[in-house]
Amino acid sequence: MATPPPPVEKLLHELQVHQIELEMQNEQLRQLQVELEDSHNGYVDLYDFAPVGYLTLNHKGMIEEINLTGAAMFGDERGKLTQRPFAAFVAPVDSDQWHLHFQSLLKHDNKLTYELQLLHNNSTSFYAQLDCLRINKVEGAPVVRVTLADITERKQAEAEKSIGSTTFMMQESMLITDSEGVILRVNPAFTECTGYAPEEVIGKTPRLLQSGHHNADFYHEMRETLKCKGNWRGEIWNQHKNGETYPKLLTITTIKNHQGIVTHYVGSHIDISERLAAENEIKNLAFYDPLTHLPNRRLLLDRFKQALIYSARSGRQGAVLFIDLDNFKKLNDTLGHGIGDLLLQQVSERLESCVREGDTVARLGGDEFVVLLTDLNEQAIEAATQTKTIGNKILLALSQPYLLATHICHSTPSIGATLFNDVGQGAEELFKQADIAMYQAKKNGRCNLCFFDPEMQLLITAHVALESDLRHAITEKKQLVLYYQPQVDLHGHLVGVEALLRWQHPERGLIYPGDFIPLAEESGLILPLGYWVLTTACYQLLSWMSHPDKKHLTMAVNVSAKQFNLPTFVDEVLTLIDQTGIDPTKLKLEITESMMLNNVENIISNMNIMKKHGINFSMDDFGTGYSSLQYLKSLPLDQLKIDQSFVRDLSTNINNQAIVRTIIAMAKNLDMNIIAEGVETEEQRQLLINNGCTIFQGYLFGRPMPIEQFDAPLLTSQFHHC
Ligand code: C2E
Ligand code: MG
Ligand code: MG
Repeated sequence: MATPPPPVEKLLHELQVHQIELEMQNEQLRQLQVELEDSHNGYVDLYDFAPVGYLTLNHKGMIEEINLTGAAMFGDERGKLTQRPFAAFVAPVDSDQWHLHFQSLLKHDNKLTYELQLLHNNSTSFYAQLDCLRINKVEGAPVVRVTLADITERKQAEAEKSIGSTTFMMQESMLITDSEGVILRVNPAFTECTGYAPEEVIGKTPRLLQSGHHNADFYHEMRETLKCKGNWRGEIWNQHKNGETYPKLLTITTIKNHQGIVTHYVGSHIDISERLAAENEIKNLAFYDPLTHLPNRRLLLDRFKQALIYSARSGRQGAVLFIDLDNFKKLNDTLGHGIGDLLLQQVSERLESCVREGDTVARLGGDEFVVLLTDLNEQAIEAATQTKTIGNKILLALSQPYLLATHICHSTPSIGATLFNDVGQGAEELFKQADIAMYQAKKNGRCNLCFFDPEMQLLITAHVALESDLRHAITEKKQLVLYYQPQVDLHGHLVGVEALLRWQHPERGLIYPGDFIPLAEESGLILPLGYWVLTTACYQLLSWMSHPDKKHLTMAVNVSAKQFNLPTFVDEVLTLIDQTGIDPTKLKLEITESMMLNNVENIISNMNIMKKHGINFSMDDFGTGYSSLQYLKSLPLDQLKIDQSFVRDLSTNINNQAIVRTIIAMAKNLDMNIIAEGVETEEQRQLLINNGCTIFQGYLFGRPMPIEQFDAPLLTSQFHHC
C-alpha cells in the first residue's frame, strides 16, 4: 500500500525551519567577514596565504599593499614591493594593454578581468589572470583591488594544443621529440614520407631515419647550431623504411618553457627529391650532351684545364684526340636524322669502351668527338706510342659495322692527335692542333690517325691569312677580275663565253679559283664574291648588247650551292636583269650535281621561277657527281656540260668514250643541248662531234682571257675553227 502524502502543515513547518537555518548561516558569514576586515593582523594567515595574490594599487598604479602569495609571485619581499609601480612587473609585450586597462578601470569600468604576462623578479615571465575592482573612497582618489591568479600552466597547455593542432594539420612531415630526442608524436605526412607508422617510431630517436650519407661531424654541427641558435635548417639524406634514401629539407626548432629550458624539439621536413632532380637536370644540360650523355665542350674544357695542371705537376704527358666521322653527313641525309642519332650514340659507347676510367670522352657537337687521355708516359715518344695504340683501337672499334634500327651501316673515323705536358699551352690552342691533325687525317684518305705537325700549322696559318686577304679583296673589289672563255659551235662560231673568276693578288700574282673558291665557300665569302661575279657578268652582257658581233653571245656564270640556296638569290638575279635590261635568255647559270644533295625542292622551285623569266641553266662537270635520272628529269635544265676529265683522254680511254656517248644520248632524250669542256685537241673535237656533241669549250678555241683581250678585234677570227 502506498504511504499517504505528508500533510501540508508539516511541509510548511519544515520550510520555516530551513529558512531560519539559512539566515543563521548568512549571519555567521557576515560576522566572519566583518572580523576579517576589522583586524587584518589577527587573520594574517588567511589573507597572506590565500591561494591567489591580493594587492591594492593606488590611483597611480603604485603597489600599496600585497599579500605574501602575491609577493612570492613577483619573487621579492613584500617590503620591497610596496610603493613600486605595478607596471614594472608587466612584461613589455603587455605593457600597453596594462596601461589601457588601468585607465579604463579608473575612469569607466569599476570591475575588469583580463590576462597579462607578468615578470618574476629574476626576469622570467608568467601568465596571470587579474580580477580588478575599483574602490571609490569618500575622500581622496580611488584605489584598485587586484586578485592575481597564476595561469601559466593553463596558457602553456593552450599554446601547445594550438601549436600541435596547426602543425599536425600541415602537409609537411613532422615529428616532435622530448628534450632527449625521444620521439613523442609524428603526423600522418611523416608516415607517408618515411613509411613508418607512429607506433613504430614513438619512443625511439630520429636516428632510425639516418641514411649513412652524413658523417658524425655533420650531426655534431647540427646539435651545436641547435644549441646556439635554437633551430637548424638544411638538406639531409634520410632513409625510408623500405631502404631507399631520399633528400629532404629539414627544419628543427627548439621549444623552451618559460624558464628557457628545452622541453621539446620539433622537426619538420619537405621532400626535395623533385627539386634536386630538377637541379641535376639543369646541371646535366649545362655540362652533358643530351643525346649521348657524354661531357660537352664546357665540361671538356674544365677537365682539360685540370689535366694540364696535373700534367705539368706530375711531368706525365697527356693527349687530345679529335675524332670526326667520315661521311656522317651523307648517312644523315640519306637515312635521316633518327638513324644519324643512333650512330652517334653507338659511337659514343664504343669510344668509352676504348679508354681508361680517368680519361674523358666528350662530344663537341655534330659528329665531332674528343678523347682526352691523361697520365701517359713522361717521354713524348712513349706517350705518342700509347696514344697511337689507343687511336688505333678507336679506329678499329668505330669501323666495325653498326646495326642502326634495321640498317646495317658502316662508318669510319678520322682522328687527329696532339700531346701536351705544359700548363703554358692553352686548351684552345691544343684543340686547334688536334683539329688540324684531324683534317690532315681526312686528307690522307680517311679512317686514319694523324699527329699534329707544326709544318701543317704553317699551311693553316697561310690559309687564315689568305682568308683575310680575300675578305679585303671583296671589299676593295679591284683585285677581282672576270676572265672569259669562248664557247663555240660545230663550225667554230663563237656562241657564248663562260665567266671564270680570277684574283689578282697584290703580292702573290694571279690566283686561280681552285685556290680560293673552296676557302670562300668555307668562310661564307662566296656570297659577296658570287654576287660580284653575277653583277659584273650582267653588265658585260649589257655592254655587248650594242655590239653587232657580240649581242648574240651567251654568258655562263658559275653559281655555288650556298649562293643558290640563299633565300634572296632569285630576287637578286631578277633585280640585276631588271637593272641592266639585258636579255635574260643570254644568261646561263652553271650549277653542279653536288648542289642537288640538299634542299632539292628549294633548288628546283628557284630554278623554275628563273626559268619562267627566260634564264638558262647548264649542269656543269656532268658525270662526276651522283646524278639521278629522277631529279635530272625534274630540273628545267637547258644544257649538260661534259666534264673535262672525260674529254681529256677521250681518244685512248674506251670507258670515257662510252660515258660521253651515254651523256650525249641522255641529253638528247631529255631535250637538252650538250657542251664539252676542256677540249684541247682536234682529235677530241672530232670524237665529240662523232658522238653528237654540238658545242665546245677548251684551249683549242681559246683560253679564259681578260675582257680587253676578248674584245680585241683580231681575236674573233680565231674561233672560226672548222
Ligand atoms: P668549271 O666551271 O668547270 O670551269 C672550267 C675550268 O676548266 C676553268 O678552270 C677553265 O679555265 C678550265 N679549262 C677550260 N678549258 C680548258 C682546257 O682546255 N684544258 C684544261 N686543262 N682546263 C680548261 P678555272 O678557271 O681554274 O676554274 C676552276 C673552277 O672554279 C671552275 O670550274 C668553277 O667550278 C670554279 N669557278 C670559276 N669561276 C667561278 C665563279 O665565278 N664562281 C664560282 N662559284 N665558281 C667559279
Ligand atoms: Mg663552269
Ligand atoms: Mg666544269
